[in-house]
Amino acid sequence: MALRNIREIGEECLTKPCKEIKEMTPRLRELIEDMFDTMYEAGGVGLAAPQVGVLKRVVVIDVTGEDPYVLINPQILAEEGEQTGQEGCLSVPGKCGIVTRPNYVKAQALDIEMKPYELEGTELLARAIVHELEHLDGHLYVEKVEGGLKNVEAAEEE
Ligand code: ZN
Repeated sequence: MALRNIREIGEECLTKPCKEIKEMTPRLRELIEDMFDTMYEAGGVGLAAPQVGVLKRVVVIDVTGEDPYVLINPQILAEEGEQTGQEGCLSVPGKCGIVTRPNYVKAQALDIEMKPYELEGTELLARAIVHELEHLDGHLYVEKVEGGLKNVEAAEEE
């Protein structure tokens, strides 16, 4: 198990578009394993490669602790509905904010064997997919927060 350093808002790597992945390599496999370790250790439900300083189009997501997904070169195929709720990001520690997202998302990506698959999600999984994919284009959820960022402790008391 290897943990990577989570980059925080203000760092340049979080504002850059990431590059497509052309082939699986031992180094990339290791990156993906480290991203899962880092995400679980930090108590997150998703992590994108730029959050550990690597500008490649790969994200890991696990919203239940038992459904790990690797999405390489992911794309959104369809979005439906709307959900408005609290969102946070491991790169914006201690903060959260209200963001409106689609309630259903269908995405296409490559898995760790570079095989294409489709992933459908609603509610938290849909939110995580959209949030993580935005990281690959250099965007953070804070750009979409309604009513300003809050401290996590303050938000929990509401
Ligand atoms: Zn994030």
